[in-house]
Amino acid sequence: MNCKRVNEVLFLFFDNELEDDLLDPFRAHTRGCPICAQRLDYTRKLLLLVRECCRRESAPERLRMRILASMPHRRGAERYH
Ligand SMILES: [Zn+2]
Repeated sequence: MNCKRVNEVLFLFFDNELEDDLLDPFRAHTRGCPICAQRLDYTRKLLLLVRECCRRESAPERLRMRILASMPHRRGAERYH
């Protein structure tokens, strides 16, 4: 596996969708190549950050939906605005 290929399958690796026969060459390359090791580390942190943000954003959204659901009269009332 080379750097270009590692870059192509990087996100598959994090999604656990990397084919089994590619896992070993992928790991072997990232162990031996400082550039790809760094890219792997960076991508892992980036994905963690994205997931962290998504979790935070979805909480108020769920709360909003719950508030809307608890107001059954809202639809009717809107007509008078
Ligand atoms: Zn590399």
